[in-house]
Amino acid sequence: MRTGSMRVAEISLPAIRQNVAHVRDLTGGAVIVVVKADGYGHGASIVAEAALAGGAAMIATADLEEALALREAGIEAPILCWLHGVRVDFADAVAAGIEIGVSHVQQLEALADAARRVGRGATAQLKIDTGLSRNGAAPDEWRTLFTRAAELSREGLVRVRGIFSHLANAGDENDRAQAARFDEAIAMLREAGIDPELQHLAASAATLSSPHLRYNAVRVGIAAYGLSPFADKTSAQLGLVPAMTLRSEIVALRGVPAGTGVSYGFNHVCETATTLALVPMGYADGMPRALNGAGAWVTVAGEPRPIVGRIGMDQFIVDVGPLAGRVGLGEPVVLFGDPELGHPPVEIWAGLMRTINYEIVSGIGPRVLRVAA
Ligand code: PLP
Repeated sequence: MRTGSMRVAEISLPAIRQNVAHVRDLTGGAVIVVVKADGYGHGASIVAEAALAGGAAMIATADLEEALALREAGIEAPILCWLHGVRVDFADAVAAGIEIGVSHVQQLEALADAARRVGRGATAQLKIDTGLSRNGAAPDEWRTLFTRAAELSREGLVRVRGIFSHLANAGDENDRAQAARFDEAIAMLREAGIDPELQHLAASAATLSSPHLRYNAVRVGIAAYGLSPFADKTSAQLGLVPAMTLRSEIVALRGVPAGTGVSYGFNHVCETATTLALVPMGYADGMPRALNGAGAWVTVAGEPRPIVGRIGMDQFIVDVGPLAGRVGLGEPVVLFGDPELGHPPVEIWAGLMRTINYEIVSGIGPRVLRVAA
């Protein structure tokens, strides 16, 4: 590693394996692990391998490019992707045996066209909207989509392997309404002559909280990474282990007198003489700049220490005053990780930024080396 341990996201593959195995034991059905957005920032191919080792039956991405990249990286397991551009060409997907989430008839025709050109049958899973109002066929399009899918299936062009939908919430009445619509769609698909092998509605929140929404497969993202989809439950309470530890190190130390202004704009002024440590991670690496002054902290030598002054593009400052003499250059700094190991949980940043842990981990930038641990 030419940069040493300057900016590292350590990814615990045993944690991912364990989280996926936990979901599989809980549900008993097929577990589809979602690795879109570079595995929520963890590294898609290492996550996919660990997830498969933990018992995942299938890997999923949003984009076709992400799915193809996984095939190229040697992932041979079934891969599903579901969000497509208007001019998408599915030929490479058919050739690589990628399963296509199909949201409307035009996509189905594009898939059949690719199958004809490649000379090989395509595999689809039909994505339906049961109330989220995002992608997926709207209820008034279901019959047309299902009838045409059945025709193409009889022609041997498109095999329909599954049907799926996505929930707006988990644990409320709206879920029940969405599940009822999902049941209707499955029945309508069967009437059209297709018995879908896979039926999946639940993402992590519903998987962990609502057994009646698990059908015979679940699509989990955040739970596989060991993070909680709920604001009021921790990873540990859900039996999950956070997989990412974001680490850096002290690259400069300076003793300063009381009254010293710190970083751009001097919006932090040291009240007493102290020691400042420079850490080479910044907002270009996914640290929210607005964390400054919000009370965010890191651990240095196992002790919580505050981030002070504005966060720069590449670096930030920690007040390590009480640790002076105990820490030197190269001392590891943990920005977030598993709280069971004494690290700050990522949810602190998410809470301060009024966002969710998903946004923080998927926003960790490309300069941060992903290192499998
Ligand atoms: N299914 C779909 C369609 C998604 O878009 C996502 C992620 O947003 C997931 C499943 C996984 O969600 P989660 O990370 O909450 O498990």
